[in-house]
Amino acid sequence: MCRHAAWLGPERSLASLISDPEHGLLRQSYAPRMQKYGTVNADGFGFGWYDGPRPVRYRRTVPIWGDANMPGLAAVARSSCLIAAVRSATAGMPIEESATAPFADGPWLLSHNGRVRREAVRPLAADAESACDSAWLAAAVFARLRDGLPLAGVLAEVVRAAAEGDGEARLNLLVTGGSHLAAVAWGDTLFTHLERGVLVASEPLDDRPGWRAVPDRSLLLASPDGVSVTPID
Ligand code: GLN
Repeated sequence: MCRHAAWLGPERSLASLISDPEHGLLRQSYAPRMQKYGTVNADGFGFGWYDGPRPVRYRRTVPIWGDANMPGLAAVARSSCLIAAVRSATAGMPIEESATAPFADGPWLLSHNGRVRREAVRPLAADAESACDSAWLAAAVFARLRDGLPLAGVLAEVVRAAAEGDGEARLNLLVTGGSHLAAVAWGDTLFTHLERGVLVASEPLDDRPGWRAVPDRSLLLASPDGVSVTPID
């Protein structure tokens, strides 16, 4: 299970998800505190942020601690909407940039923590950029968003369909279009921290009070107007 995190709120740097907090994604890449599947997240990492309506993305297959350019980039990449992930590849999945979150399509960025049998998601999309299960899941979500369907409904539909095809699927998703954020808790931990914006992360980035667990099998929606959590049944 990888680890991912996102921010929506006043502009801040990617370092606020990675290296500023004591247990940011850099630390979580080698010493996660709540990871149930896998021990380290050394199979690559990715960032996405918005500099205008289209996202900018950076993906690597090296461990995040092994990219000497990462700290400089994370310090200057600033946005009101940020997403980042460190990867522990599921057995049998390729290690390549195209298998690394965040996946992107038009204005959308998506990260998946978990695993799903590819047979359960392949019927949901025409094609994917990688053979990785997460790439297929992303393709299924993007195809529906491209049709103009609303984000919350798309995520609920894709998660239900994937879970129906694979009862063991773990489907924690983070999706953003730049002005709002959605996250699914399905099979692994998910936390939020409300401040002058909202932080969402697989596990708390620090030990400040105020981190709240999102119940399993639910959908979190965050916009500048607030945050809601609803069950996916
Ligand atoms: N299944 C995805 C992959 O192989 C995500 C892995 C994870 O969450 N650890 O990359």
